Order: sequence, then C-alpha cells, then structure tokens
Amino acid sequence: MGTVAPTASDIDARRSPAAPGAGGDRGIFLIGYDTESGDPAVTRPFLQRMREIHEATEVPATLFLCGRTAERNLEALRPLADHSLMDLQQHTYSHVLLKSVYIEDPQEGVRFVRAGTLEQIREEVRRTTVLLRETLGVECTGITGPYAYYRGLVDRPDILEILWDEGIRFVRSWGRNERDWQPVDLAIQPFFYAVQGFPQMLEVPIHGWQDISLRKTVGWTDHAAFLAGVYPYMERAAAERLVFSYCTHDHSSRRDDPTMAITEALLRKARDLGMQCLSYADYYAQRV
Ligand SMILES: [Zn+2]
Repeated sequence: MGTVAPTASDIDARRSPAAPGAGGDRGIFLIGYDTESGDPAVTRPFLQRMREIHEATEVPATLFLCGRTAERNLEALRPLADHSLMDLQQHTYSHVLLKSVYIEDPQEGVRFVRAGTLEQIREEVRRTTVLLRETLGVECTGITGPYAYYRGLVDRPDILEILWDEGIRFVRSWGRNERDWQPVDLAIQPFFYAVQGFPQMLEVPIHGWQDISLRKTVGWTDHAAFLAGVYPYMERAAAERLVFSYCTHDHSSRRDDPTMAITEALLRKARDLGMQCLSYADYYAQRV
C-alpha cells in the first residue's frame, strides 16, 4: 500500500473536515483511554468503574491498550471484548513512541523522549494485534501513538506504511502543539492521510489537554478547575459542529478521583450538549 491516489472525496474530506455531517448536528464526542499501567491493581478497578460510568450514560468508549497491560488483565478485559459500548484498540505492546518528542513543559522544563526504530514499531504493533486477536477475539484497527506528537504523522509516510501493513486504519497521533506541549486547538480536525498515499488512513487528533497535563497544571485535587479547562472545547465543538477527541488514561483517571467523577461529568456534559457520542472505530466507519 502507498500508491493509491487519493480520490476527490478524500481530498474534500481532508480539506473540509467540518463539512455538514462530519461533525454531527451538535458536534461529536470521542473518548479514548490509553490503558498502559504495569500494575493490575491500578488497571482492574479502573476498568470496572470505567464500564459503570459508560453504562450509566450510554456513551461508548475506546480503550487503547498496551499489549503488556492487556496480558496482565485478560480476565478483566474479556467482558469488555464483546460489550456494545466498548471498542478495544492498541497503544503498542510496551509503549514505544512512533516519533521522538522534544517537550517544552512550562513546569518541568525540556524533556526528550526517543522514538522506537521502524523495526521496533512494526514488532510492537504486530505483537499487540496478534495478542488481542488470539486472547480476546478482537480485530485491532486503531492505535494511539504513545505520548502523541506535533502534526501527527503528516511527515512520516514510512510509519504510516508500517501501520497500514499491520492492519491499522485510524491513528490518534496528533496530540501536541508546536512546543510538543498542549493544548491542541480544536481547529485541527480529523483528516485522511491522502496526500501521503493513504487515503483510507484517518488521523483523529487529541484535542485540548491530555488529562494528565492539565490535572498536573491545575492541581490533581482541583476537579472544578480541570473541568473548567475542558468544557469550553466541548461547548465550542457542539456550537461549531466539530469533533472533540479526548485522551485520558487508566492510571490517571482514578488518581485523586477514585469514582471517576471528572470523567463521568465529561460524559454527562457531552449528553447535555446533545453531542453525538461514538467510539473511535464507529467514527472511522462513519467517515469511510
Ligand atoms: Zn501512553
């Protein structure tokens, strides 16, 4: 793959992501949990509470699983594998970055985290896909790139080709701004990697703040300040018929918030705003 020319409709979709229908009448709400903890005592209670709040609000969820985390929590994941609200995707086997990041964090200074090699990336993605298929019967078509990156994979057709070959059809890889920090503006809407030669590969950026960055900034116990930092993105998405794509994690969702009240508030906010709530897989299906 890599030689198929983009069609006119692919280009239209990329250039006009907010075209009628792309963002629903009241916007679209997507939530994905990067599930990556090495400690089952963290992941298992998260999975249980996460399921409860999604069932209570009937909002679909996508879990982007590290393969090694899935291996340690197979019994807890099994009931989610064929759950109507749950969509299981991947986050590499051991949290290997697809691209290096040079993070200019205003609180902690510069951090550099190196990407895996192309060989490692292929092995990590393949291993996780096989694991999810053989243990949970799940066919993995989506990935969140560990850490997420500025401009996603627009400049990396080599990585896109590996992901495509391994069966990946949508990626959350654009999750940082020009300082490899956050927030990411809502104007960065989902687009197809058509000009790179992958007209059916969808990027779904992560908007605003990844939960950890904002909770660290406002203080972990200040739930109101965190929600005040997220709600404006949702309100704008609803008003302007845009997609709002939110990233949170297994290990952070219950930190200083054991009942996941923050996350539940976001789910109820999406419902109150009348947003269309979809899993990432269903959003991809809707776009293609
Ligand atoms: Zn991660």
